[in-house]
Amino acid sequence: MIAVMKTVSGEVTLTHRAVPEVGAGQVRLEVSATGVCGTDLHIAADEYASEPPVTMGHEISGMVVEVGQGGDPSWLGQRVVCETYFSTCEVCQMCRAGRRNLCASRRSLGSFEDGGFAASVVVPALNLHAVPDHVASEDAVLFEPLACVAQCLLDPSRVEAGERALVIGPGAMGLLSIQVALVAGAEVACLGLASDTRRLAVAERMGAAIVTEAESEAYDVVIECSGAPAGISAAFRAVRRGGRYVQVGISGREVTIPFDSVLYKELEVSSGFASTPGSWRRALDLVNRRQINLSGLVTHTLPLERWEEAFALVGSADAIKVALSP
Ligand SMILES: [Zn+2]
Ligand SMILES: [Zn+2]
Repeated sequence: MIAVMKTVSGEVTLTHRAVPEVGAGQVRLEVSATGVCGTDLHIAADEYASEPPVTMGHEISGMVVEVGQGGDPSWLGQRVVCETYFSTCEVCQMCRAGRRNLCASRRSLGSFEDGGFAASVVVPALNLHAVPDHVASEDAVLFEPLACVAQCLLDPSRVEAGERALVIGPGAMGLLSIQVALVAGAEVACLGLASDTRRLAVAERMGAAIVTEAESEAYDVVIECSGAPAGISAAFRAVRRGGRYVQVGISGREVTIPFDSVLYKELEVSSGFASTPGSWRRALDLVNRRQINLSGLVTHTLPLERWEEAFALVGSADAIKVALSP
């Protein structure tokens, strides 16, 4: 099968690989689609840890075609999404506290273990979740980003009913954050660049007010989804005194930001790294109850062979979520 891999020499390339074998406790998925994430671009640029050679892609939507020894055969033929940890140590303080996302020995799909930019992928059966019937397999690639947003915003809750929330950066994470903040009962504004026309139109349809410049000290909570230094600086300006700053986006490098605002304004700064079983449950509940709508956010699905074009699209204002499909 063909796969998009990060190689030992550091390049990303399309290569041929053997179809992976299924071990006990594992299942093999036929991949329907796998989302291309900002993290994939950071992995390609050596700005995010990985262990090559490895097949990239962690936002996987697929169908179970093989169940490993002793596994539950009722998974066969089911459409599924899967949590991103292939393995964690299970004995460290973080694992034992249920915070497997913070395990130092965590091996994630698409960076340390072979991921979903291929026709087939093997994952632990423990990580599977059935895709709700009303969600298209292509749209299901958004469950992983939604679980990450839930990790940042809902556990514990960072947005309260009646509050003013500002979401900075109308990419996929920003648009999912807008929906989560609206469900929480906040009045939501979204700040983007002038070139973000398409993304901002979607934000507006979702119910966010579009702002081109963020009012100073006007928001109870600011949710920074761009990872860009200008976005982070705008967030520190826009949050009110005693307010909350939530980091969702990744910068990928050291950035210069007005960090003294944390002190002057007594800000609460928080984030969420990747996802946990709890945040996946939240994401599935929100979609199952139709409180969050994933459709319309996957704007481009390209075959694996066109991965370079797909990676380039991720940074363009034309795209919201880009996916690769075998
Ligand atoms: Zn992702
Ligand atoms: Zn651990």
